[in-house]
Amino acid sequence: MNDAGFLEALAACVGKSHVHCEEREISPFLVDWRGRYRGRALAVVRPATTGEVAAVVRCCRTYGAHVVPQGGNTGLVGGATPLEEQAPAIVLHLGRMRRIRSLEPLDFTVTAEAGVTVREVQEAARSANRLFPLSLASEGSATVGGVCATNAGGVHVLRYGTTRDLVLGLEVVLADGGVVSSLQGLRKDNTGYAWKPLFVGSEGTLGVITAATFKLFPLPTEVVTAWVAVPDPATAVGLFSWLREAVGEGLEAFELMGRSTLELVLKHIPQARAPFSGEPPAWSVLLEFGEAGRGTQLPERVERALAAAIERGWVLEAVLAANEAQRQALWALRENASEAQRFEGFSFKHDVSLPIRALPRFITECETRLRHYWPSVTLVCFGHLGDGNLHYNVFPTGIERARWPLIEPQLSGLVHDTVAEFGGSISAEHGIGRLKADLLPRYKSEAELTLLQRLKAALDPENLFNPGKVVRGGDRPASEET
Ligand SMILES: Cc1cc2nc3c(=O)[nH]c(=O)nc-3n(C[C@H](O)[C@H](O)[C@H](O)COP(=O)(O)OP(=O)(O)OC[C@H]3O[C@@H](n4cnc5c(N)ncnc54)[C@H](O)[C@@H]3O)c2cc1C
Repeated sequence: MNDAGFLEALAACVGKSHVHCEEREISPFLVDWRGRYRGRALAVVRPATTGEVAAVVRCCRTYGAHVVPQGGNTGLVGGATPLEEQAPAIVLHLGRMRRIRSLEPLDFTVTAEAGVTVREVQEAARSANRLFPLSLASEGSATVGGVCATNAGGVHVLRYGTTRDLVLGLEVVLADGGVVSSLQGLRKDNTGYAWKPLFVGSEGTLGVITAATFKLFPLPTEVVTAWVAVPDPATAVGLFSWLREAVGEGLEAFELMGRSTLELVLKHIPQARAPFSGEPPAWSVLLEFGEAGRGTQLPERVERALAAAIERGWVLEAVLAANEAQRQALWALRENASEAQRFEGFSFKHDVSLPIRALPRFITECETRLRHYWPSVTLVCFGHLGDGNLHYNVFPTGIERARWPLIEPQLSGLVHDTVAEFGGSISAEHGIGRLKADLLPRYKSEAELTLLQRLKAALDPENLFNPGKVVRGGDRPASEET
């Protein structure tokens, strides 16, 4: 390829000052959040409008360069990092598409461009007395494009669903440079195939999301947040089910955290304060209820329910946030879980989901199996129990560094095989990206995998977008390979 000609053509699409090629300038965009993957790209290109994105896509197609979309670069599966072996490629950074295009309180909708952060959407909604319920620890950097592309979950899925459930409309630039758009915010529209959910969770492999319309909700006027100690995960599952009956549908978050996770947060995050005196409990739950309206008596109902749970031995200790500062302090313990682990060092990470009823047996069985081969490892287990989603991370304590890459396939294979045996999924909310692309054939049926490959081939026949992620060799269905 004529690199100079290509770079000039890109500059004609977005302006010279938005095509970055200097190693020093582009290197932060070529490494993922965990620092696990480092990639290569000819340039980082920063369009400001949907028209510019379409022009860049057409230009890349003409010159035969791959397009790797990137938002906040907080993804945890290497999806936004170009692969060394898939050259030439550009990183298409959406950070200049920063407009909130509309906010409609009467419709309970907001439309925002790809580069707007989740926090900015939350704040815009709040300014109109509305709730944008997507909430995750990376919300200050994660973008509209990124959360749509990964179908992000977070701490409120229990009540409001994943990003896919929140998306009413999308604007997408396709592989031929065409633009499809449906941003009217309609709740009912049965005109043909549902194409929008297909792009949500496609991880930049089917098209570039340039804007999205999301559902909003009434802002809760009463919020009750509590940190409770429970004897074990089985009791936590029972408590989860019982609280929904006892208090009502206002349960917004139910986060499980094992002792080792809390210990890491207390060790590495200077402002973190233990919820109870003494040794951290073996298992904790951070739970939050929220309700809109006046006179809901939510605090009284939650307190009554927790008192009953203590009496029955389901809850060993409980602390309720008395004000917003205390609420934030409790949430900081949960939200810093990923950051604390990053400070601690390398671990084998597994973002898995299971039927909620199977979680306790999975936790016990997986530990037994792991300790059979690697007795000294440290297990850091936490997650969105209310969604059946565990972050099941294994720190290779007591194992020589040189052996880590060698044991990874066996160790992660053991965890994922156990997940599959219990009827679960090897990716709950972080996606497949590069990290798990090789695993899909093992855990998806052949029919499902072929369907995914056909979808990729139909929408991106030249494998322009984010090659090597999600579905490998996605430009032709496996059955058609010679
Ligand atoms: C501390 C921390 C906590 C986290 N907590 C959660 C959590 O609770 N729940 C959860 O689900 N995730 C969580 N994540 C993961 C991450 O924040 C989400 O995956 C988020 O959606 C990524 O958004 P981003 O803008 O950073 O996307 P990026 O990391 O830039 O990209 C992620 C993927 O989306 C694609 N992409 C990005 N923008 C576009 C676009 N405009 N069009 C098409 N494709 C695009 C990329 O190619 C890549 O495949 C967490 C991450 C961190 C660091």
